[in-house]
Amino acid sequence: MNMKTVNGWLNIIQNWIYPPTCLLCGDSGERGLDLCGACERHLPRTGTACLRCGEALPDGAPSPCGRCLQHPPPFDNCLAAFRYEEPIRHLIHGLKFGRRHACARTLGELTACYFREHAEPPDVIVPVPLHPSRYRERGFNQSLEIARHLSRNLRIPLEFQACARGHTSRPQAELSAKERTKNIRGAFRLEREIKVRHVAILDDVVTTGATVSELARTLRQASIERIDVWAVARA
Ligand SMILES: [Zn+2]
Ligand SMILES: [Zn+2]
Repeated sequence: MNMKTVNGWLNIIQNWIYPPTCLLCGDSGERGLDLCGACERHLPRTGTACLRCGEALPDGAPSPCGRCLQHPPPFDNCLAAFRYEEPIRHLIHGLKFGRRHACARTLGELTACYFREHAEPPDVIVPVPLHPSRYRERGFNQSLEIARHLSRNLRIPLEFQACARGHTSRPQAELSAKERTKNIRGAFRLEREIKVRHVAILDDVVTTGATVSELARTLRQASIERIDVWAVARA
């Protein structure tokens, strides 16, 4: 029996013992997801957005946006699977603050469907390292947990040891847009070489883009040609 058959059987057994259940309403899940069809249809999907920075744009507006034309970001493009609104916010919070790992699996599978369709596959996925004090508090990095499922689904390797986040910066969530850029400067360092051409940085929520921009600058030092940003949600 090959691995594919073994995994197929394991899935059947798992679905029989723990049938997929909607994390949002408690109904039966569909397509093996912990979401029912009705809840999945109502997720806040991304509409028209700037291909460069991922910022939402009015329908028919030219891309890249005016701001990207004037000040191009240090990454090549940014794609977000969802808008940071309910119930996506509920799933992200369920993982971050409620430690519900079923939320990581669901977000990983949903984003895998989106990026499979909309993005060019990178050589590796690099989850944004968590601020060390946040990591101590939480015990896990939500972006890495989502990335594990994304990586397995898309069969793209994960690289989570090449970049580390230093102790110097304050947690970004407490700061204004301007303070975020200043606070995050120099926060990441390369721990080892990454010898690939194309990476996708994965973040759970991209707000001002300051964190992913700084990580992209750090990765450029490793002479990576193409750096994309994949966000589960864009605020
Ligand atoms: Zn539901
Ligand atoms: Zn833009």
